[in-house]
Order: sequence, then C-alpha cells, then structure tokens
Amino acid sequence: MMQIQTTENKDLNTLPAKQNLLALSFEEVTLFLSRLGWKRYRSEQVLSWIYKQFAADFESMTNLSKSDRRLLSEKAVLSHLKVVTHQKSSDGTEKFLFELADGKQIETVLIRSEKKRRTLCISSQAGCTLDCNFCLTAQEGLKRNLRVDEIINQFLSVQATLPDEESITNVVLMGMGEPLANLNAVTAACERMISPMGLNLASRRVTVSTAGLIPQIKTLIAGPVSVNLSISLNATTDEIRSRIMPKVNRLYPLKELMAACRALPLPPRRSITFEYVMLSGINDSLEDAARLVQLVKGIQCKINLIPFNAYPGALYQPTPDGQILRFQDWLHQHKIRTTIRKSKGRDILAACGQLTSEFEN
Ligand code: SAH
Repeated sequence: MMQIQTTENKDLNTLPAKQNLLALSFEEVTLFLSRLGWKRYRSEQVLSWIYKQFAADFESMTNLSKSDRRLLSEKAVLSHLKVVTHQKSSDGTEKFLFELADGKQIETVLIRSEKKRRTLCISSQAGCTLDCNFCLTAQEGLKRNLRVDEIINQFLSVQATLPDEESITNVVLMGMGEPLANLNAVTAACERMISPMGLNLASRRVTVSTAGLIPQIKTLIAGPVSVNLSISLNATTDEIRSRIMPKVNRLYPLKELMAACRALPLPPRRSITFEYVMLSGINDSLEDAARLVQLVKGIQCKINLIPFNAYPGALYQPTPDGQILRFQDWLHQHKIRTTIRKSKGRDILAACGQLTSEFEN
C-alpha cells in the first residue's frame, strides 16, 4: 500500500486508530478522505468546516449526511485544547491557559486594539529553549516543542469563543517559546494561516518573532511563507546582549546577526521589525540609541520599543516613560521609524514576557 508522510512523520496506514485531522496538511486530509471513498469536494467541505466555520466536531458539519458524519467520527477526530483558565483584562485583552493532551500548559493572548484589530499572540513551545533573563517564560526551561495542530488549535479555540462578527485579524508568534527553534511546525502552521483553504489571513498579518537564530531566519525567508519577521534585538553591545540573552547571543553575536539581516532577500515593501525591551539603566541610554542607529544602518526596518513588563522576582526595572520618549526621539531624529508598544493585559500577566504556566496551578 502507498505510504504517505504526515506532518508528524507517521504512517496513516498504521497509526493512530483515529486520525487527528488537524495533524494533517490539506493534501493529507484529502488523501485520507479519498481512502474512505470520498470525492475531493467533500474534503473541501470538511476543511471549510474546520478552518472557516471553526466546527468543534463532525456532528456539526451539517452539509454531510448523517452516515458520513458517523463514518468520520469512527475514523477521525478533531483534537482540542482544554481551557484551564480564561481571564479578561480591563483593557479587553484575554488570556487563555490551555492544557495539551500530555498535561503541559501553554498560554495564548488575544489583544484588541484600534480599528477592530484583533491580534492573537500564539505560543510555539511549552516553556522556551532560550534563557533570556528578563523573560518569565525562560524560567520554565523547555518542556517541548508544540506540534502544528497545537499551534493552529490556539487560533481555532480562541476564534470559537468569539461572536460571529468578531474575527481574529492578525497573528503574532510571540507567545511562549522561540518559534524558530520549532521551525517545521511553525512554518506548517503559518502556511495554514495564510492559505485561502485555511485561515486565509493576508501574509502581512502574520508575524514570526525570533531572538535571532540566523540559519533559521534564512530558511524562513527563503521558504514558501512570506510572513513578517520580527527580531528581538534588545541591546546594542555584545556585552549587554550576552548578559540579558546569553544563549542566543553567544551563538549568534550582534555583528553576525545584523550582517545576516542586511543580506536577507526581503520581499519589496517588507521591512524587519526590531523589538527592543527597555530595561532601566541597562540598555536605555542615549548612547544605546546612537549605537542602535549605527547597527540598523542599511536595513529596511522599523524599531518597536517595548516597555519592560515586570513580574514577581524580575531582575530588571522598567525604563521611565520620559526616557523611552527621549530614546524614541533620538531615533526619529535619525530617520528611523520607531513605535512604542502599548502594553496590554498587564493586570492579568498577559503582556510580553509575562507568560508562564507555572503560577497558574
Ligand atoms: N522568542 C521569541 C518570541 C517570544 S518573546 C523572541 O525572542 O522574539 C516576545 C517578545 O517579548 C520579545 O521581543 C521579547 O524581547 C519580549 N519580552 C520578553 N520578556 C519581556 C518582558 N518581561 N517585558 C517586555 N517584553 C518582554
């Protein structure tokens, strides 16, 4: 019999007893259903129920006959994330703590902003591979990489809680974990997000954020999905960057990182966003601003200054607002597009760097 590779490298003929359709690519779903004797248009119907109508189960796929629905329920499942807690911030931000099938927990944050923008901040790992010491997630260490169905399911689960007229408009892979340390699953998830058969988001509405894994950045940019790239720079000297982001900066020091960025074949009108967490007395002086101007010279980019979000036991203090504005002013004077990120959801520890599964239990 013919064998096909699923996203999880499992053979459909032998594993598992019931196939999780979210673990399969669109082509694999079509192949799976063709083995049940179903025509192609049927798989399009099923995919539409999953990715456009956010059906929770086969029973609700009402344009399939009862016997087809029964057959699907016998042969397949749609995996779900269990909602452990669902918190709402006074500013409209919502934080979901999800439990995976093996009991590990991850967080996903929905951020509402002006003009009906709904941004979903998605996790790519349970815990994180890296050890950036201003970030709460790092303290958990890496538990494991998420699979593509677990990444996609964060979107489906949150969207399913929203009223019909409220759609998630943007996705940022900026939650727990280092997305580019889980490149295959992240790329597959992005493909499903931007595919017309999938979530059908414009590729400019999907952003992958990385602490700066150079080879994976190159692979991502050369690959099939042209999503936005965000790089967490956070310092202007190797001394400070190695202090606050030890693992990644030792592997890929600043000079190499910036040279790699400069050489990236970015699509026209696309720019890199450099994230820069403002840590009081560490990386927020005007000398830093001046060095930052030099570092990004010749790179089509924008800088996003992130006010530091504190959490219990944090090693750093946030830079005072006045100093953030002076820093931004300096960059503006040197013609660098610079925004200051509005922190959302601080009251429920849903802001950048505040995500962890550990305090919830
Ligand atoms: N590992 C990826 C994505 C997760 S972190 C990356 O490094 O980009 C997402 C963003 O949150 C990064 O820009 C990171 O620098 C920032 N961040 C982490 N901890 C923070 C904190 N406590 N306050 C503010 N921003 C933080």
